[in-house]
Parts: sequence; C-alpha cells; structure tokens
Amino acid sequence: MNAHIPYGRQDISEADIQSVVDVLRSNYLTQGPVVPAFESAVANYCQVKHAVAVNSATSALHIACLALGVVEGDIVWTSPVTFVASANCALYCGAEVDFIDIDSRTYNMSVERLAEKLAKAKIAGRLPKVVIPVHLCGQPCDMAAIQLLGRQYNFKIIEDASHAIGGKYLNEAIGNCRYSDITVFSFHPVKIITTGEGGMALTNDLQLAKRMQLFRSHGITREVTDMTQAPDGPWYYEQIELGFNYRMTDIQAALGLSQMQRLDEFVFKRHAIANRYEKLLANLPVLTPWQHPEGYSGLHLYVIRLKLNEIKKSHLEVFEALRSAEVGVNLHYIPVYRQPYYKRMGFKIGHCPEAEAYYAEGFSLPIYPGLTNQQQDQVITVLKETLGA
Ligand SMILES: *Cc1c(COP(=O)(O)O)cnc(C)c1O
Repeated sequence: MNAHIPYGRQDISEADIQSVVDVLRSNYLTQGPVVPAFESAVANYCQVKHAVAVNSATSALHIACLALGVVEGDIVWTSPVTFVASANCALYCGAEVDFIDIDSRTYNMSVERLAEKLAKAKIAGRLPKVVIPVHLCGQPCDMAAIQLLGRQYNFKIIEDASHAIGGKYLNEAIGNCRYSDITVFSFHPVKIITTGEGGMALTNDLQLAKRMQLFRSHGITREVTDMTQAPDGPWYYEQIELGFNYRMTDIQAALGLSQMQRLDEFVFKRHAIANRYEKLLANLPVLTPWQHPEGYSGLHLYVIRLKLNEIKKSHLEVFEALRSAEVGVNLHYIPVYRQPYYKRMGFKIGHCPEAEAYYAEGFSLPIYPGLTNQQQDQVITVLKETLGA
C-alpha cells in the first residue's frame, strides 16, 4: 500500500521551528515586534507601501471590503471558481454578490465577460462597487485590463492573491497593488508560505491601510489625531468604528517571517514539479494548465482537466480511483453559486457555463515543495492505470 500523498502541505524547517520557539521565550506572544517585522518583510518583497497582517485571508478580505466602504445596497463581483471566502466577504458587509464567468484557458475571471456584464449593469444602474479578481492556482489575472475597466466604470479592485504570493505579473511581484486598491494573501498551511492560520492585506493607500488596521483591532485607535476629543489621560484610547479581533499573533508572524526566506525557493520547486508533470502527462488524455506568458504563477495548485470523450471513465470514477490509490486529488473549486447558501439567494446551476465545464472535468494533482520525484511518479502511474492510457 502506498503512503497517502496530499494535494498540498506545508514545508517547515528547523529554522522555522526555532523562530517560533524564540517568540515563545520572549515577552510578547501577540502585539509584539514580530508582526510588524513580518509585515515589512512582505511589503518589501512585494514593493508595496503598507501591509496589514491578520488571522486569515478571510479576515483580510473582510477588512478590505470594509475599508473600501462596502455596505448594504452595494454590489461586489468575483470569480465563481474560487474558495467561498472571496464572495462571503461582501456578504459580511451586507452587499450583494454576483459572479463573472471564467476564461477557458486561464480559469481566471474572463475580462470579456466582465466587460459585457459591466456594459449591461451600467444600463440597469447596477454597477459593482468592488470587483475581486482571484489569481487561481497562483496565475495572475489580466490586471491591466481589469484596472482599465475599473477606471471606466468606477469600481474598486481587491486582488484575492491567496494562491499567488511569490508570483509575478508583467515582471513585477504580485502584491505591489499597481493595478488594484488592495491585495490579499493567505498563509493557510496548504498555501505557498504559512503561518498556521493567517493572512495579509496590502495597499499603497495610507488611508486604506489605517482603516484596515482599525478594523483589525476592534475599531480602536491610540492616535490622538484620529480621536474625537483630547485624551483623558495616558490610558486613553477611542473606539471609532465597529471592528473585530482579527489580529495575527507574534508566534504566527515568526513562522511567516522565517518562511519568507524560502519563498522564492518554494515557488521555484513548484515550477520544477509542474514542468515535470507537463512532460509526464504529455501523452495522456488530459489538459494540462496553460501558463500565461505575462505571468509567473505561484503554482499553488496544479489543475488538470480530463478529456472525457477520450476516456471510458467518468470524472467521478477517475477522482475516486485516485483517492483510493492514496493520491490526494482535490477539486478547486465547486462554483461558489452552487453552494446551498448561494442557491437560496436565487443562483441557479449553470449561471457561469465555463465554470460548469471546468467543474465537470477538472481536479488538482498534488503539488508542494516536499513532493518527491518518486511520489510524483506514483501519481502518474495511478493516473495512467485509471485512464487506461
Ligand atoms: C485559502 C483561500 C482563502 C481564505 O484563506 P484563509 O486564510 O483560509 O482564510 C480565500 N480565497 C482563496 C482564493 C483561497 O484559496
């Protein structure tokens, strides 16, 4: 029996462990110096002005929407092929959500579909306040085009780059916010670098950064210039918004800061694995992921699509065969509007036809820095047997 191969997993070094232990022996487990150090490291890497660390990317998306002023009555658009958090953040603010179908090659939000839907929405007086493109698998969206549409139709942009730290778009780091108001990263253990749980929101706009810092910590400020009255004394602080406790701990930040040192190596290894898959899968009845020449993907996920008319098994049968052979395939993602919660809001199966086609054929093969050639060969052997190729 082969050992189970997950679709993704963290890579923790002795140096990572030591940096967490160092925090445990220090004075501050939270609200200490390591969170700002981690924020600076990521901001420097991405060449962006401000970084706000939080306890998850979900929280980062929420405070990003709040900082951009998303409220009840507003409309937010995102991709249907994403984790539910990309859409839920708008619902948290009381806004309405809709989905833009994906591009058939990149599986990211289609700019053509976005442009069409904007033209119609303008006539109907229902333009979105915020659009949230998702860099699926780490492959950047066509941000320059989305930014142009944003200027034309006056919407704000949050990049959900949960899969994409370490990647590039037009030779610059994803996260630099050149084409967006805010970019969000996730540090969940399956993502590119990890803090256990954690996320970050990046921006070049000081006001947005300050708003996000407020929402991260109860809406409380200790800055006199932001207060409504003179301080009663040195203890004084003011709650000026309804915020949350979305703070990252120094324990988590220490892990993240240490992992940042290997970020480029992690992404490089993911590319080596993807290149090897590309060769090993060449003669199988599957579609391998297309890589846009304008981007350098973080390769968080490696999604293949079955050429179902060339094989005798169904999508489900292939998936189950791989799982029972201990190959931890996964499906990223069920189109969000198919979730019962979204169906109750009136969404119908078939809302985004390209997303449906993707959902009917696609799944993710294991990819993570520690995946060995031998394990990868095992994945291919099982896949070949299953496909009868
Ligand atoms: C993982 C993920 C999130 C949520 O990240 P958490 O840190 O687990 O909250 C959001 N969007 C996408 C696209 C993700 O993959």
